Amino acid sequence: MPRMPVVFVSHGSPMTALQEDDYAEALRSAGRRLPRPRAIVVVSAHWESGPPLRVTGAARPDLVYDFSGFPDELHRLTYPAPGEPDLARRIASRLSARVDEGRGLDHGVWVPLRRLFPAADLPVVAVSIGRRTPPAEHLATGEALGFLREEGVLLVGSGGVVHNLGRVDFEDASAPVDGWAREFDDWVRARLERGEVDRLREYRHQAPHADRAVPTSEHFDPLLVTVGAGGGGRVVDLYAGFRHANLSMRSFWIE
Ligand code: ZN
Repeated sequence: MPRMPVVFVSHGSPMTALQEDDYAEALRSAGRRLPRPRAIVVVSAHWESGPPLRVTGAARPDLVYDFSGFPDELHRLTYPAPGEPDLARRIASRLSARVDEGRGLDHGVWVPLRRLFPAADLPVVAVSIGRRTPPAEHLATGEALGFLREEGVLLVGSGGVVHNLGRVDFEDASAPVDGWAREFDDWVRARLERGEVDRLREYRHQAPHADRAVPTSEHFDPLLVTVGAGGGGRVVDLYAGFRHANLSMRSFWIE
């Protein structure tokens, strides 16, 4: 069985589930190019917990429509993927996490998966992201999940490189990109390309405009988990660009 890559997606606004644009096409294309996994494990920005971390254990996970103020159409979207309780238990054991039988898949999981794997025919297990957890621990979580790659399981971190809802231009998805957002996004891309994990761990002190780009870390943390699982492999860009002036949609996989 080939070693699976690991994927990071910036999932953007929930509206990305409905918008047909170059980002949607980039995710669809990536889903076709990636080796077909036997299951998918998603670490989502929209499920903060811990310690301990949590893992979805339902055999038929529901969807969580964890947003408000969006069109009704979004609440009618489905993603009827099965869960895999046995895989959930094994992940929980590795992470000293707790299996949560009742938790469904939040929009950080199903919005990008509807693009990447639209058939919804692969088992999906979601893992929470540690709340107020230092970067080194997110990297360690990724390392602990690295075993999945040898089992044909695709690990996906779902969050955002630049995510500051206090700064986005909600009215205009194609607003001119703010310089500070691009600088931070470029800095992260350069560290990824050069495999500078130590500097990524110190992003709060080293990256330009870190406090503006990452006012709270829950959307950035899944990137650190992905890098931890990536083990220094080559980074392949899946999409780079912004919506709403500074919402980074940068997505990539690590071979
Ligand atoms: Zn989000």
